[in-house]
Amino acid sequence: MATRIGVIDGDGIGPEIVPVAVAIASSAAQQAGLDVEWVPLAIGRSAIESAGDPLPAATLEALDDLDCWILGPHDSAGYPAQFRTGLTPGAIIRKRYGLYANLRPSRAYPGVPAVTPDADLLIVRENSEGLYADRNMAVGGGEFMPTPDVALAVGVITRAASERIARVAFEHALRRRRRVTVVHKANVLTLTTGLFRDACLAVARDYPDVAVDEQHVDAMAALMVRHGDFDVVVTENLFGDILSDLAAELAGSLGLAASINASDTKAMAQAAHGAAPDIAGRDLANPVALIESTAMLFDWWGQRTADARGAAIAGRIRAALSDTLAAGESTADLGGSLGTTAFGRAVLARLGG
Ligand code: ATP
Ligand code: MG
Repeated sequence: MATRIGVIDGDGIGPEIVPVAVAIASSAAQQAGLDVEWVPLAIGRSAIESAGDPLPAATLEALDDLDCWILGPHDSAGYPAQFRTGLTPGAIIRKRYGLYANLRPSRAYPGVPAVTPDADLLIVRENSEGLYADRNMAVGGGEFMPTPDVALAVGVITRAASERIARVAFEHALRRRRRVTVVHKANVLTLTTGLFRDACLAVARDYPDVAVDEQHVDAMAALMVRHGDFDVVVTENLFGDILSDLAAELAGSLGLAASINASDTKAMAQAAHGAAPDIAGRDLANPVALIESTAMLFDWWGQRTADARGAAIAGRIRAALSDTLAAGESTADLGGSLGTTAFGRAVLARLGG
């Protein structure tokens, strides 16, 4: 039976970069002997046109039955006013499926100039709590205005969610260089980020083979610029949001920044950049972030199903991507001369597909 993976093109450059990522992943999967059925689903402008809703019920019902999918970028700020209410489609999906772990790797590619060319780190960001926790949570986070001149934000940190994300970080460290850095600000935010740190250090006791250290978030930002010598970095939501953009830019460009959002049973590949409406439809978009995100999705799938073909597919995609960039073949944002489709073809050629 085929492995079913959802494909959501999204808005802006989404319909250009998503098919490139899918073509490359298809070829790699075929070579590894995995039969994949790609399931196209509509979200965003195309869904407004076809179903009168940027996030149609039919799409959510289809996602209910899938384990993993690729989500193209969304330009929800550009939707007609009646569809611009509240959360973006991506945020609704993250909440609906409890995708609590945001994994954002950052490494320099040969041939792409980087501030920290030796950096190779994985930021494991808690994706459901902290200052980004919403008011509907059982423990009630979110922002409030008791008067028009006073705004409050309630940050939520729970031991359970902190331990859960720490386990994800330590499990990844076992497959990498066996180091975890816990990032917090427990000298000032003693109760909230202090609880986060304590929970992570408690989980660390279950992983005696993994070295653990800790940093305050401000010092961490400076150290990432200074040497970038980190392996797995685990942190709460807001800190992880900021540090992962920093890490991406240090390693070359936000246009290279991949991510998956995962729970223990579902995962979604999503580039860290937006829909880039300014360059949409012109064959200029760089698909690297989404291609790497798709590789991460196969890693996740392989671990969850204990199927070695997941890692094999991810490895093939990454090798072809690195070889292509190392040969100086890239899109304009990286100084290259290839369009989106030509770059995709160059990666496919290196895959032998
Ligand atoms: P969002 O709010 O959705 O994150 P944003 O305002 O951060 O959006 P992006 O859509 O990420 O903006 O675009 C920021 C800039 O980076 C734009 O100039 C865009 O053209 C460029 N950019 C983003 N992604 C890519 C890409 N994959 N390839 C080339 N350029 C990109
Ligand atoms: Mg952005």
